[in-house]
Amino acid sequence: MATRWIATLSEMNRFTAEVRSHAKSLALVPTMGALHEGHLSLVRRAKIQCDVIVVSIFVNPTQFGPTEDFARYPRSPEKDLELLRSLGVDVVFAPSSTEIYPAGFATFIDPGHIATVFEGAIRPTHFRGVATVVLKLFNIVRPDIALFGQKDFQQVVVIRRLVEDLNLPVGILVCPIVREADGLAKSSRNLYLNAEDRKAALLLSRSLEGAEEMAQAGEGDAQKLLEEMRKTFDAEPRVQLDYAAIVNPATLQPVAQVIPGSVALVAARLGTVRLIDNLIFSPQGSTPELKLQLALTTQEADEKSSATL
Ligand code: AMP
Repeated sequence: MATRWIATLSEMNRFTAEVRSHAKSLALVPTMGALHEGHLSLVRRAKIQCDVIVVSIFVNPTQFGPTEDFARYPRSPEKDLELLRSLGVDVVFAPSSTEIYPAGFATFIDPGHIATVFEGAIRPTHFRGVATVVLKLFNIVRPDIALFGQKDFQQVVVIRRLVEDLNLPVGILVCPIVREADGLAKSSRNLYLNAEDRKAALLLSRSLEGAEEMAQAGEGDAQKLLEEMRKTFDAEPRVQLDYAAIVNPATLQPVAQVIPGSVALVAARLGTVRLIDNLIFSPQGSTPELKLQLALTTQEADEKSSATL
């Protein structure tokens, strides 16, 4: 089947109804386009799980703050379509802003406390915009499963809460972070980095790798691990650290002691470019999938457990 480009809700509704009438399973991969291997890994995983794959491309204005990069966010629809065609995606759903937010639009989802810390502290309306558009996409596309990347860990926590709290009939599948050969997490925003900043950006993944090595060597004190992470950044004035934290993956509350499944979060600015990255602590030799399983099954109470790596 050829890849279809759908831009309107009415056409998308017709397509969804047709898929349902044939009792086929449907996966949705929500993206903002400017696709790279990180996005494509979600599509490949979706293809293993479902009969029909819809990838949405929508640069969602409500998740950008007034001083953020909405207008200059990279857009490459032709190249994206080519990539998705080569993977055999059934539909690229690329609505306009007015299709998603027609005149009079007024209702937003408030994701609560988890949307106010870390990324939410720096970008106060970000997760409200994310949760609102994701719920709209779920209602429009009506997927059986939707796939998200670990790269945006806080987003995963917000979406999983949304699905649980509002009893949404959709399964959430989380896929590991895809990295460049040198360790930098792939991101559409890496395109903005000049050569010097591109080199300096490696500090994000290096600081996380350093913390992982220390933890696997037996250091369980989160403060000590964070001190080492912060030191990595002190040596490079091109990088301004926004935050480094080690948290319980369910609540995003900082932990005192690292256990398998605890997550280290970092965010830093290089000039006007903001980058984020994270790492799930786990016993040595754990696969990326096992790490995700540890993080996504950790309960609030586990933070009091005395288990070590
Ligand atoms: P975005 O286009 O940035 O909104 O991202 C769309 C989806 O791709 C989100 O679920 C992201 O978490 C995921 N994603 C982005 N970068 C990566 C990456 N490097 N590895 C895995 N997933 C990613």
